[in-house]
Amino acid sequence: MGQLYQAITEVEENISTLLSEVKSLRQYVEYLEEENVKLKRQLCAVSEADTVRVQKNAAKIQKEAQENLEKLYQEGFHVCHIYFGEPVEGSCLFCNAFLRKD
Ligand SMILES: [Zn+2]
Repeated sequence: MGQLYQAITEVEENISTLLSEVKSLRQYVEYLEEENVKLKRQLCAVSEADTVRVQKNAAKIQKEAQENLEKLYQEGFHVCHIYFGEPVEGSCLFCNAFLRKD
């Protein structure tokens, strides 16, 4: 009888341990779900506001790069892919085509 009582006590202890593990797992799942919602919201916020800014900056950078290349060509250097950085004698069809972007 004493042995059976001990066995039942052990089972009760195991169930209690399992229940508390399930409880903490459930809390963890809730935390992860909240975090997921928060991250999704942040992702939406980024794509809304910052996309325009990134596009504007990209356009600005592209414009500046174009201006720098035009300046470099006016100062007498190739900006085309074939002779880039070498001194231009006369004018270069490739550079002209590249700067006109055609
Ligand atoms: Zn050239």
